[in-house]
Amino acid sequence: MKKIIWTIALLFSALMLTGCGKSVTDQSALKNVRSSNTINWAVEGDKKLFSLIDIRDDQEKGFDIDMAKAITREILGPKGQARFTLATSQSRIPLLKNGNVDAVIATLTITPERAKIISFSKPYFRAGKSLLVNKDSDVKSVRDLNGKTVIGIVGDNSVEVIKKVAPKAKVVAMQDYGQAVSALKSHQGDALTSDNGILYGLAAQSAGSLEVRGGTFTKEPYGIAVNQNQEPFHRAINRAVDKIQRSGEYNRLIKKWFGQVPGFNYKEMYYK
Ligand code: GLU
Repeated sequence: MKKIIWTIALLFSALMLTGCGKSVTDQSALKNVRSSNTINWAVEGDKKLFSLIDIRDDQEKGFDIDMAKAITREILGPKGQARFTLATSQSRIPLLKNGNVDAVIATLTITPERAKIISFSKPYFRAGKSLLVNKDSDVKSVRDLNGKTVIGIVGDNSVEVIKKVAPKAKVVAMQDYGQAVSALKSHQGDALTSDNGILYGLAAQSAGSLEVRGGTFTKEPYGIAVNQNQEPFHRAINRAVDKIQRSGEYNRLIKKWFGQVPGFNYKEMYYK
């Protein structure tokens, strides 16, 4: 009898050691993506230039999407699949932490707070916060914001940033960019703040009624996020970004998405 109990106990601990008790994020992400030949990416669907659903063919399009496809090709080869799960500014990190996606590529700024819970790749895009205003607005730069109402987005870092750069501004946070733009157009706020690239995309969709002003007032390096303790996958992503940047593909993508945007100095974004 004792022998049977011992055997069961041994079997049980062997099972635990071989992985039956592992959580989603303990499993090797690199092995998983290799065995399914697919990387599941969290992306956003409402950011022209970075990641926007094209209603004509229902496909996500933009710089982040092309980077995700290029990284997938580097890691899995030409037949590797990049699958996209739509996220919002608020849901990007929870989707990763819950194991719904393998990685996030969604204009996500590398910040020390976020780096405590997820792992970031090397920076792959250098954005900065800026302002979007109605053409007739008297707001010219961040110095004009005190006493004004500034619109931000729930789940992004604009709200904290405005509190630092214009402590006397009132900040209202909207659920998504669609709501934020409607609020700005109906003058519920004096300016909308987010990253310059995102704002240029919104201005381009506004038929000339909105414009980006005041240059950038923060540094927003974007990183690709993977779960912590996934070193092999993390390294594979960094190697892929490196290769894409060195091969010239990165600069081609910058030109493709930002080359025609009036007022945006896309050459500053080039990998040199
Ligand atoms: N880069 C900013 C952030 O990560 C804003 C991006 C966004 O709203 O998606 O918070």
